[in-house]
Amino acid sequence: MPDVLFAPWRYEYLVSHKKTECIFCEAAASPSDEQSLVVFRGKRVFVLLNRYPYTNGHVMVAPLAHEAWFSQSSAETLSELIATVARAQAILVAEYRTDGLNVGVNFGSAAGAGVANHYHVHLVPRWAGDTNFMTVAGGVRVVPEELTATHRRLSALFAGEA
Ligand SMILES: [Zn+2]
Repeated sequence: MPDVLFAPWRYEYLVSHKKTECIFCEAAASPSDEQSLVVFRGKRVFVLLNRYPYTNGHVMVAPLAHEAWFSQSSAETLSELIATVARAQAILVAEYRTDGLNVGVNFGSAAGAGVANHYHVHLVPRWAGDTNFMTVAGGVRVVPEELTATHRRLSALFAGEA
C-alpha cells in the first residue's frame, strides 16, 4: 500500500493548522454551516464533518459549550449527545451502507486529542475489507466523496429532507 497519495486536505491541514482558536467553538458560532461543515445543530450538541476525514462520512458530535470532559457536561447535554450519536449512527448505516463504525473520543492531548479542550465524539464508517483503524489513522487516506457533497447529503438527512 503506497502511503503518499494526492490528499489535498492534508496539505490544507499542514498550511492552515493553528492552535490559537478552538475550531469547535468557531464552528458552533459560525454563520455558515457550509464553511464550518456543520450538518446538524441541536439544543446542546452539534454534528460536523471532519475536515480531514479517515473515511467518507466521518462526522463528529460535540457539545456547543466549550467542555473538555464528559464530567463537565450537564445530564441534559450528555443525554442529547448519546441520542445524537445514535442518530448519526443510524444515518451512516442506512446511507453509507457501512459494515461497521468506529466511535471514539480522545480526552486530552496525552490521549491523542488534536483539540484537547473541547471534546468530540468521532464516528468513522468502516467497510469490510478496508484497512484497520490504526493503520488508517497513521497514514494518508483517499476519500473519494468531496466534503461539499458529503455536507449537502448529511445536512439533508439530519434535517429529515432526504
Ligand atoms: Zn471550544
